[in-house]
Amino acid sequence: MIDLHTHSAVSDGTDTPTELVATAAAAGVTVLALTDHDTTAGWDEAAAALRGLGSAGSASGAPGLRLVRGAEFSTVSPDGHGGTVTAHLLGYLFDPADPDIVAEQERVRGSRRERVRAMGERMAAGGLPIDGDALLARLPADSPAGRPHIGQALVDAGVVGSVPQAFEELLRKDGPYYVEKYNTPIAAAIAMIAAAGGVAVFAHPFARRRGPCVDAAVIRDLAATGLHGVEVDHPDHDADDRAALRALAAEEGLLVTGSSDYHGTNKTTPIAAETTATPVLDALVRRATGAEVLAG
Ligand code: AMP
Ligand code: FE
Ligand code: FE
Ligand code: ZN
Repeated sequence: MIDLHTHSAVSDGTDTPTELVATAAAAGVTVLALTDHDTTAGWDEAAAALRGLGSAGSASGAPGLRLVRGAEFSTVSPDGHGGTVTAHLLGYLFDPADPDIVAEQERVRGSRRERVRAMGERMAAGGLPIDGDALLARLPADSPAGRPHIGQALVDAGVVGSVPQAFEELLRKDGPYYVEKYNTPIAAAIAMIAAAGGVAVFAHPFARRRGPCVDAAVIRDLAATGLHGVEVDHPDHDADDRAALRALAAEEGLLVTGSSDYHGTNKTTPIAAETTATPVLDALVRRATGAEVLAG
C-alpha cells in the first residue's frame, strides 16, 4: 500500500513525524511519503523513526516500510481563462539543501505566518476569540502555519466542534476572514524541484470544494514544461474528475498517483484511504536524483 501524500504536525497534520511513521506501519502502508506544506523540517525525525521501526520490524518479521521524503509547495497557477488560482504541487526526493528551494520555502513560511496574524486580526475585529500572535507563539519560529492551526484555536475556544467545521463555517476562501499568502508561480516551482533532482506532481488539481481550480488545458501546458505527474485518486476528487484526469494523464504521459492527504485529526480521511500503484512509484523513483528512498 503506497500513500504518497501525508502531513505531520511539522505543518498542519496532528501526528508528529514519529507518530505518522507508526500510524503508517500499523495501517500496513509499505511506502509512505511525508509531504508537509512548504518545509522539509520533518524529514530527519521521520527518517529516525523509520530506522527505529526497522529494527523492531526485522525482529518481528513484519514487512518493511519505505519513506519517500517530499513536500507540498504552495503555488499560484494560471487558471486557463486569463486569471490565476492557488494550486498545490507535490515535490518528491529533491535535495533539501538546494539553496533556491530553501530560500523559497522560507519566503512562503514567512508569508504564512503574516497571514495567520492578518486573519487573526480580522477574526478578532469580527468578535471571534482569536489572537494570531498568541497562536504563532505556540508554534516553532519557522512554522508553515496555516488555516488548520486557526481552526484548532477555534475548537479550543469552543467556537466550533472540529477543524473541518471551522473550514466550512469560518475559514473558507470565499469567507469574510480569508487573507491570501505569497505563493510560488507554479512553473518556477516545477523548475526548482527538477533542478534539485526531484519529481513534481500536481496535487489534487480538481479539489473544487476548496475553491476555483485550474482547467485541464493548464495541466497539459505544465506537462510540456516538466510536470511529471498528477494526483488523480484524492478524497476531494469525484468520479467524473478522476476519469477526466486519468484520460488527460494518459494522453500527456503523466504519472497517475493516489494518496490520502492524511492530516491526523485535522481531517476525517484515514491514512492510505487512496493509494498509488507500484509501477508508478518505481517510475517516480527512477526519475529522482535529489534524495534516496529510505528503507526501515
Ligand atoms: P492553508 O494552507 O493555510 O491555506 O490551509 C489549507 C489547508 O487546510 C489544506 O492544506 C488542507 O490541509 C486544509 N483544509 C482545506 N480544506 C479543509 C477542510 N474542509 N477541512 C479540513 N482541512 C481542510
Ligand atoms: Fe494541509
Ligand atoms: Fe494540498
Ligand atoms: Zn496536502
